[in-house]
Amino acid sequence: MTPSFFLDAHLDLALNALEWNRDLTRPIAEIRAAEAGMRDKAGRGRGTVCLPEMRRSRVGLAVVTQLARVNPNEGRNPVSVWQSPAQAWAMTQGQWAWYRALEEAGEIKMIATKADLEKHVVLWEKEETSVIGCILSLEGADSLITVGHLERAYAQGLRAVGPAHYGPGRYAHGTRSVGGLPAQGRELLSEMDRLGMALDVTHLSDDCFWEALKSFSGPVWASHSNCRALVPDQRQLSDDQIRALLERDAVIGAAMDGWMIVPDWVQGETTSEERDLRLEHLVEHIDHICQIAGNARHVGLGSDLDGGFGGEQSPRDLDTIADVRRLTDLLQARGWSAEDLNQFAYGNFLRALRRALP
Ligand SMILES: [Zn+2]
Repeated sequence: MTPSFFLDAHLDLALNALEWNRDLTRPIAEIRAAEAGMRDKAGRGRGTVCLPEMRRSRVGLAVVTQLARVNPNEGRNPVSVWQSPAQAWAMTQGQWAWYRALEEAGEIKMIATKADLEKHVVLWEKEETSVIGCILSLEGADSLITVGHLERAYAQGLRAVGPAHYGPGRYAHGTRSVGGLPAQGRELLSEMDRLGMALDVTHLSDDCFWEALKSFSGPVWASHSNCRALVPDQRQLSDDQIRALLERDAVIGAAMDGWMIVPDWVQGETTSEERDLRLEHLVEHIDHICQIAGNARHVGLGSDLDGGFGGEQSPRDLDTIADVRRLTDLLQARGWSAEDLNQFAYGNFLRALRRALP
């Protein structure tokens, strides 16, 4: 049984277009060939995401990011780290302009309201479109020059914010950093509440995670997070965090980055070939969340397959994003019902999006 379509809750399409200079409208073989011999970033020539491959696997909806960090003291990184908020804001505005250009070209459709969403879902269910619906999310809020810039971004269609990314941020502490929300971060959360936006808790430091859940009252999700119980790292969700998310009826997106799937992975050294990384390993994380929840209503796809890595760091039985359907095959083999498979493929995150859109 193949679900009628997939919803991927985390892709960094614009980052790939603007920082990695990938034309995602082209076939994957062309994108890979254009990068032959390039060594500037990990995963060059081994990309797994482009629009034709998304269509092939019927990824008809995706939460896509704008993303730019600010930290004058940090060096080279797969994601540009800017010297000032104004530069980061300009980068996210460029990313927005790229999404708009793709929309004007008929490749994608920006989804900013519940009405847009429902119309789009029907088209995919009836197989009457190949246009990919995109909901905008900001990964790391550093680029908001002031809290007031959030309303401008909202007017452009931004509907969710993950306040942090890696390390310390201007609005929250991110992955592997320590500390609670600064005053500016608390202001940001109340502005998100006022605008009716969703909070993405992925990448928050532990203190920020708990403070944000307490002070924010709107819809919550974790777009691309796996389980700390299986791969110990602060980047992952602890069982207590998972329980707290379930209390908010949140959905957790399964991420396909190798080091988040199996333990003792050395980033930049270990490869999926030598570890024999398989989608089956990711199923363990999905199952772990379902065991805690007692149902399959809180899991979904948040592949992050274009988040700064390629085939060297994603499951071997996945050549491109078109192979996500193998994940539902594996779940089916474990006895999942057709209803649960559909909930995993798109239904659960659809429920979350319905709450987050005006
Ligand atoms: Zn991320």
